[in-house]
Amino acid sequence: MNDKPELTTSMWPLGKSKFVAPYRMNTKIEVKSPSHTYSPVGQCIYCGTRASKLKEEHIIPLSLGGNLVLPASSCVDCESITGRFEQEIARHFIWPFRTGMGFPSRKKKNPEDFEIDFILEDDSCERVRIERRLYPTELYLHKFTTCGFLAGKSDEEKTDSIAVVGWRNGPAFEEVKRVLFSFALDVERRTKKRVKAVAPARYFYPAPFAQMLAKISHSYAVAELGAISFRPILLDIISTDVRQKRESQAAKDISHFVGGSIEAFPHHDDLLHSVDIELVDVGGRTYVVVQLWLFAIVGGAKYHAVVGEALDKAVEQVRSNLPGSYARSIKVSLKSP
Ligand SMILES: [Zn+2]
Repeated sequence: MNDKPELTTSMWPLGKSKFVAPYRMNTKIEVKSPSHTYSPVGQCIYCGTRASKLKEEHIIPLSLGGNLVLPASSCVDCESITGRFEQEIARHFIWPFRTGMGFPSRKKKNPEDFEIDFILEDDSCERVRIERRLYPTELYLHKFTTCGFLAGKSDEEKTDSIAVVGWRNGPAFEEVKRVLFSFALDVERRTKKRVKAVAPARYFYPAPFAQMLAKISHSYAVAELGAISFRPILLDIISTDVRQKRESQAAKDISHFVGGSIEAFPHHDDLLHSVDIELVDVGGRTYVVVQLWLFAIVGGAKYHAVVGEALDKAVEQVRSNLPGSYARSIKVSLKSP
């Protein structure tokens, strides 16, 4: 057997292989913006119940460094639903990244290693644990095009497929290969089979990611404008297990109401995330749209979600305030490594 594995990183999350921002994955962040706590809602913002014990909601999940808190706003059942997709993002998409950059976590202990799948010539898979200090830490995000609703598409044009452009910030693929080479060699010796590709042993499904964006947007609009300021649009998207129910209306609504920009954005040295609200007129009605910029510190991605049709009072309220009145940002600084 040839002792030089010809690794391909074709199964590594797709995306731009060159840096779009300085590679700073193992520099710790420190959140500078004070946390902000809104007035308690007193009812579940997802299902409306007042009966259940109501928990506080982190608008941007704590695992992403969010510190905007909406007290008494989620019942236990809805918390377990939103917790499911938030957990998937925290433990799959961004796990090595947030560990490397020292994001807050409810668990005190960080993982000691991450798993990588080595795909063998017969398509079987060897899962290998790699120490955190050796792991090629990166951030991978799905970028979306403008949502169907704001792009002028009709209800008939809704589709359950989500158009995605992969984006990553991390070491170049050559560097990934170099780090993984000795592990691949070891796998080949052990299995007596050739390694043909390598991939992180994590999920990168777009639907739960889009559901998280819907949840952030809905809860932010409620926090800033109040629950009765708009007719909500995103509740089914948030509460439906869209991967199990591909035929559901919610699955078709995702790309119609949740979207983004596929452009590359310059990195900020002190901004982690920002969120803002704007009103958009479509077909003679006014809609509340939440704008998000996530992970601006490494360039990251911009998203939007149409949270609902604005009621007259909300339209008046938003239009009477100065632009930027509903914008909030999470500022951070980088600690020296
Ligand atoms: Zn609920």
